[in-house]
Amino acid sequence: MSVVKVIALGGVGEIGKNCTVVEQDDDIVVIDCGLAFPNEEMLGVDIVIPDFTYLVENKHRVRGVFLTHAHEDHVGGLPYLLEKIKVPVFCTEFTATLIRSKLEEKLPKDRIDLRIIKQGDKTEVGSLSVEAIRVTHSIPENSSMAVSTKHGIVLFTGDFKFDFTPVDGKLANITRFGELGREGVLLLLSDSTNVDRPGWGPSERRVTEGLRKVMVEATGRVLLTTFASNIHRMQQVYEVAAELGRKVAVVGRRMEQNLDICERMGYIKIPKGTRIRLDEFKYYPDEQIVILTTGSQGEPLSALVQMSKGEYGRMQIKSGDTLIYSARPIPGNESAIWRTINRLFEQGCRVVYDSATPIHVSGHAYQEELKMMVNLTKPYYVAPVHGEPRHQYLYRQIVTEMGFPEHRIHTLSDGVPLCLDETSTYFEDQVACGAVLVDNSGQPGVTKEILRDRYNIANEGMIALTIAINRAKGELVGEPILQSKGLHGPEGLLDKVSEVLNDALNNLSKEELRDISKVRHEASDVVRRMIQKRANLRPLVVPTVVEV
Ligand SMILES: [Zn+2]
Ligand SMILES: [Zn+2]
Repeated sequence: MSVVKVIALGGVGEIGKNCTVVEQDDDIVVIDCGLAFPNEEMLGVDIVIPDFTYLVENKHRVRGVFLTHAHEDHVGGLPYLLEKIKVPVFCTEFTATLIRSKLEEKLPKDRIDLRIIKQGDKTEVGSLSVEAIRVTHSIPENSSMAVSTKHGIVLFTGDFKFDFTPVDGKLANITRFGELGREGVLLLLSDSTNVDRPGWGPSERRVTEGLRKVMVEATGRVLLTTFASNIHRMQQVYEVAAELGRKVAVVGRRMEQNLDICERMGYIKIPKGTRIRLDEFKYYPDEQIVILTTGSQGEPLSALVQMSKGEYGRMQIKSGDTLIYSARPIPGNESAIWRTINRLFEQGCRVVYDSATPIHVSGHAYQEELKMMVNLTKPYYVAPVHGEPRHQYLYRQIVTEMGFPEHRIHTLSDGVPLCLDETSTYFEDQVACGAVLVDNSGQPGVTKEILRDRYNIANEGMIALTIAINRAKGELVGEPILQSKGLHGPEGLLDKVSEVLNDALNNLSKEELRDISKVRHEASDVVRRMIQKRANLRPLVVPTVVEV
């Protein structure tokens, strides 16, 4: 009897790096391939991607990657997967447009095989078929994905909310969700990010009122920061600005790029004469200017952060400016965001980050919307995804209240296959999975040992020892040289350490001195113990033995 397996390689028990495998017989499809942001312990790490070992080992069976939408937590890992396996990527035109340039920056052209699908289309991939269904979120052409298997439909809600007044007027295809319910949804993998919010989330449309209110009150220039992919938000900014007689300029490379593409393709409609270039500011009074900028997450190189430090060449913050913070901090970025906001206040810029009329709404379903999805699709099994353990727990509670028996609610863990056959479900042993860390080098695989060293250097400094040895004679040449960086201890610490090290080395026999690794080991041991004893520090010790 054939078994359908669902394996999350990321995105369950955590928010970020969404990547889920659905497999049946010889066929595998992957839904999304995202990245996550590092936590504060991952020093120097820029992004976190899933471990793709399972997909590499089974690459002959992988028929395609399907992308629900163009947010980084769903597409950001893709270049790293495509580097390892060649596989077609299926997505809507808008998603393709947004990711194409990013893929081309990292990969040779022949590794990129983007295939455009339309919402409503069914794509046959081996024995599986995948249908994209339109659903609302904070980005255009966002899809749920229905994977048809032998035992029924495995339905990924993807990131969603039910917004009946979306900015682009494109409603979720609720009818189709209802039909799927009739056809037989075996398993619903539901967004659970906002499961702790009761009621029904506000429509993106409400932000229009919030933006209008702040812009009417502002007497000088208005700056607004949001995610570079938040096309709907930008659309609203243009509309409100046009209504109030303000012109809009954009700073930040990714935002400009996205706006150009979206305007060209008709995803955003800019009222005539509203968009200006940054260098056209001088022709308008401050109260007629709006600036859209990147940097909502406090990214060090973003335009907004540089402006807050007075280091942005193209424009300066001035007293009387108002910044609208129209985004939600991604966990881990809070302190960088507050630092930026505080610097802006210091420069005389008023920052609006909270308001009775919303200036930002979430793109994720609240409790009643989550229930609505369950009610429409009538799944046999449910499993919350796109959430941390607390979200998984609350989702379980909510569907229990809806009458789901225990055995039909699954709490998934990364890498643990959920197996579904005709009559039952069970879990198999965990496959390779985990967090692969990528730093500025772009090379995935920053290890635990590297992080530990970085942590030690950052907190306690480092000390380098250089020891010269005449191996033929089996004796020391001169005294060892000690150099330290970032080490702070009692006065004379290094001299004392140097003395003790010298004594220790002089106590070694000729035979021992010929053994380079023994010398290295002994030296760092002595130094480490000495510094621990005298200064209660554990710096990174790097011994070098030179043969002369
Ligand atoms: Zn999203
Ligand atoms: Zn997401």
